Amino acid sequence: MPRTDVVLADPRLVAAEGRLGRGVVKDAVAQAQLRARQGRLSPEEVADAAVAALPPYAASLRPVINMTGVLVHTNLGRAPLSAAATAPPVAAAGCTDVEFDLAAGVRARRGRGVLDALVRAVPAAEAAHVVNNNAAALVLVATALAADREIVISRGELVEIGDGFRIPDLLVSTGARLREVGTTNRTSYADYAEAVGERTGFVLKVHPSNFRIEGFTGSVEVAELTGLGVPVVADLGSGLLTREPLLPEEPDAATTLGAGADLVTASADKLLGGPQAGLLLGRRELVERCARHPLARALRVDKLTLAALEATLRGPAPPVRQALRADPATLRERAEAIARRLSEAGVDARAVPSEATVGGGGAPGVPLRSAAVSLPTLLAAPLRTGDPPVVGRIEGGRLLLDLRAVPGERDGDVTRAVLGAVG
Ligand SMILES: *Cc1c(COP(=O)(O)O)cnc(C)c1O
Repeated sequence: MPRTDVVLADPRLVAAEGRLGRGVVKDAVAQAQLRARQGRLSPEEVADAAVAALPPYAASLRPVINMTGVLVHTNLGRAPLSAAATAPPVAAAGCTDVEFDLAAGVRARRGRGVLDALVRAVPAAEAAHVVNNNAAALVLVATALAADREIVISRGELVEIGDGFRIPDLLVSTGARLREVGTTNRTSYADYAEAVGERTGFVLKVHPSNFRIEGFTGSVEVAELTGLGVPVVADLGSGLLTREPLLPEEPDAATTLGAGADLVTASADKLLGGPQAGLLLGRRELVERCARHPLARALRVDKLTLAALEATLRGPAPPVRQALRADPATLRERAEAIARRLSEAGVDARAVPSEATVGGGGAPGVPLRSAAVSLPTLLAAPLRTGDPPVVGRIEGGRLLLDLRAVPGERDGDVTRAVLGAVG
C-alpha cells in the first residue's frame, strides 16, 4: 500500500490542496487506499483513484436537478437563483461597500440598495427591512411591537409551516402572549373587536400557505381590520410583491398594504425567487421600530444575501417565475422529445401528463398542468446518486421526472443522466 504522504506528494494532489484544502484531499486518498486494501484497486492506481474522487469544491452541497414537480422545494434549497443574481454575490464576496459610502468616505446604511429596490417594487411601502428569513421577521415584529403584550390572531391561522415549525410557538417564544379569537373554521370582525384593547400589540393575519379549509368557513380581510385602532400585521409567506395573475388567491405585499395593513412579512426564497431572507415592508414608524430593536442585529443578513436579493429584485424574472409561467404544451413537447431519445436507447420511458405544485408554502391546492417522463422506479436511486443528481417523484408505481421546474436548456443533461443511470 503506498504511504499517505507519498500519495499526497502527487503533483495533481498538491495542486488540489491549494483549491480544496488538505482535509478534503486526504479524505479522497484515504478512500482510495481503503478500496486498494479491499482488493478493488491495485496499489499503483491509488493516486489516480484519489484524483478521480476529488469533489469539485470544498463545500459538500451539490447542485441537483429538481424534477419533483414542486417548484419551491424546501429540501432542495427552495428558489434557485437566476443567473443575474448568481454573479453579484461572487463580486461582493471580497471586501465591498456594504456599509460604506465610497464617495463621501463615511459609514453608510447597510443594504441600502436592497431597501431602495424593495420600496420601488412596492411603492405602497414607506420603508423596508431585511432579515434572515420570514420566521426571523415574525420574531422581530413580535419582539419589537408586542413583547409583554398580546398578539390577536384567529384560531384558523395558528399554522404549522412544516418540519414541526409552528408559528404560534415562534410568537410565544418572544415573550408575547397570543390572544386567540374565533374558531378553526370561522372568525368574525366582532371576535377581533372584542379581543382588542389596552394590552394589544398588534393584530396578526397569517396566510394559510400550505392548507385550505373548505365548507362552512369565514375569515376577516385585512381591510376590515384596519379600523380597530391597533397595527395590523400580515404574514404573507410566499413573498409575492405584486399580484400574480396565475395565482389569484395568493396574497401580495402591494395589495395587502393597499388594503390598509401596517406591516407585511414574507420570505424571499419562495415565489419571489431570491436567496433565503425575510422581508418587512410597511409603515415607516413600525419598520424603524423593528430595524432599531437590539434583536435586529442578531437577525441581519450578510452581504452575499444582500447582493443576490437586490439582483433578484432588479433583474429579469427568476427561475421560479419562469417555471410558474411555463406553457404546458411546451412542457409536453420537451417530455416527448426526452422520452423518444430514451426509448431509442432501449429505456422504458414515455411522456405523461403531470400535475406540478408551487410548494414551499404557496398556493396550496393549485395544480399546475405539467408533463413528465415516466420511468421504472428502480431508476430513482441511481438518478439521485448520479452526477448531476436528478430527483423525481414516485407516483402510481412509476418514477416521474416532472419538467415544470427544469429550464429547457437542461433537457440534454436530464437525458444523459437517465442513460447514465441505466448503463
Ligand atoms: C414559509 C412561511 C413562513 C416561514 O418562512 P421562512 O422564510 O421559511 O422562515 C412563515 N409564514 C408563512 C405563512 C409561510 O408560508
